[in-house]
Amino acid sequence: MATIKPIEGRSVHQIQSGQVIVDLQSVCKELVENSIDAGATSVEVRFRNNGLDAIEVQDNGGGISPEDYETTALKHYTSKLTSYDDLSSLQTFGFRGEALSSLCALSNFHIVTARPADGPRGTKLEFEQSGKLKATSVVAAKQGTTVVVEKLFHNLPVRRKELEKNIKREYNKVLQLLNAYACISVGVKFTVSNLVPKGKKIVAFSTNANSSTRDNISNVYGAKTITALIPLNLEFEMDPSNKSGATRSAQNWSTQEDPGSAKVKIVGHISRPVVGEGRQTPDRQMFFVNSRPCNLPQVAKAINEVYKSYNITQSPFIFADIQLDTNAYDVNVSPDKRSIMLHDQTALLENLKEALLELFEGHDQTIPQAQHP
Ligand code: ADP
Ligand code: MG
Repeated sequence: MATIKPIEGRSVHQIQSGQVIVDLQSVCKELVENSIDAGATSVEVRFRNNGLDAIEVQDNGGGISPEDYETTALKHYTSKLTSYDDLSSLQTFGFRGEALSSLCALSNFHIVTARPADGPRGTKLEFEQSGKLKATSVVAAKQGTTVVVEKLFHNLPVRRKELEKNIKREYNKVLQLLNAYACISVGVKFTVSNLVPKGKKIVAFSTNANSSTRDNISNVYGAKTITALIPLNLEFEMDPSNKSGATRSAQNWSTQEDPGSAKVKIVGHISRPVVGEGRQTPDRQMFFVNSRPCNLPQVAKAINEVYKSYNITQSPFIFADIQLDTNAYDVNVSPDKRSIMLHDQTALLENLKEALLELFEGHDQTIPQAQHP
């Protein structure tokens, strides 16, 4: 049975999708999210010439069914959401059916896909710029999907030039984002490599299919990083009647069917609140909402502020996943879904600061002799 279906017109309108692919980072974000949505336990990202020549993302996920080939890259076709009402209970990263269609328009694009039942044979899918399927052919392939994006922005000379000019910075930005996906994705093996022009392949980083975020962080940043971290494990109840900055009514926080939904957990890892244990710059800070990597500048500011009251000269390593009811935020704020609106942010920040102070206070701030002779 075909699973990729059009989103109904009403929803298309409500979603008001903008342009999804704006830079190298958005390409990688969309493709990696598709791989995770496909249930992959292995994701390999291969850059050629820092991504200027090509970006390939290969996974071992469920693959694409032949019934879905025709619609795979059509705009607003998705296997993940059929109505706007589904958004609140969304479990997948994707839901707009826009990334692949945008990539067809902006690059030389093709897919190779094989489902478990397909054996060693896969299918190469080629598309027109509109996203319409142009040709299929049988190729050798392992189970999963490989998406190949060549010559990004080749038909938009100004953007292409801009990309070429800033490629080093863009590439580093991508690596930071991929670090975040690799650290949060428990049970998924990530490998990121770059084939530089002289033919040398550089492995940027790789993780094993670890069972904890701690091990993922250790793989990405090195085992030494881990010793300077303490577990972040904050939990508080958002009081819907709390006037201290609570700008929304109770029903936005807790639905009638689910009275417990005002609970917020913030889990992860943070530098010990001790001088010498932080970092020179705030370059290793990752934020997630229900495991979705996102930009949370206010949350970042709050955590950094509390940390500074213990260690004024340094910034902490932060890996913070805010776990809360899906009604308590909106992912549909920016086309790239990196910006998330937390409905009751002010109250959340206050609770967060209080809980973090408590954690730091309760923490033994002396440095173990064994690690710091
Ligand atoms: P969305 O992720 O919002 O559904 P995309 O344009 O990113 O939209 O992808 C369109 C569809 O193509 C997805 O809904 C999914 O069914 C299929 N697809 C994309 N990438 C993969 C992949 N790596 N493995 C399996 N299916 C994929
Ligand atoms: Mg997608």
